[in-house]
Amino acid sequence: MLKPIQIVTPPLAANVYLLRSEIPALIDVGGDSAFLVDAVKKYMNPKDIEYVFLTHSHFDHASAAGDWKSWFDSKIVLHEKEFSLLKSQGFASYMFGIKFKPFEPDIMIKGGEVFDLGDIKLEVIHTPGHSPGSVCLYEREKKWLFSGDTVFPNGSFGRVDLLGGSSYELIKSIEKLTKLDVKNLYPGHEEEVIGNANEHIKTSLRFAKMFL
Ligand SMILES: [Zn+2]
Repeated sequence: MLKPIQIVTPPLAANVYLLRSEIPALIDVGGDSAFLVDAVKKYMNPKDIEYVFLTHSHFDHASAAGDWKSWFDSKIVLHEKEFSLLKSQGFASYMFGIKFKPFEPDIMIKGGEVFDLGDIKLEVIHTPGHSPGSVCLYEREKKWLFSGDTVFPNGSFGRVDLLGGSSYELIKSIEKLTKLDVKNLYPGHEEEVIGNANEHIKTSLRFAKMFL
């Protein structure tokens, strides 16, 4: 079984995951398209990437998507609320003074969809709070959760003070994640958790309730 490859990307160390499934995919793309191409080439031809799932639209996770889409033929998958947010901001992150290349998602999701990549199946779970259209991707059989910026290891969780963030929604979303059986957690920043991710997510819920 091929494990997800974690690629830590510039400029803010967002984690991209390369899935070497029968139908290959990326989860997030980071903010430096040239860097990502080089990193992916170590494992496969970037042209073979069928899907690019974006956990949300923040520039550190998603701003390389425009280049990626123009260079390769991957289908960009993004939550509809996240696309509205991007458009309303003109594909800019004013807070960080960054404007990024606009792109249209090929597949707009709402939550509940299942993508069959052959030996890996990804279920979309809408987890608003960090941003309105944040999603987590769940591999039910393998008990893997790709959590974007919703939850991180050791009880940490995504910030809610950016545009469209909501502490109420984030708590509800983390609650939803505690109902899943998760062994391995692949977060959008920081290290992976292998083996006891349920405990980490429960701690995130406890801390989020305490501090938000
Ligand atoms: Zn974010």
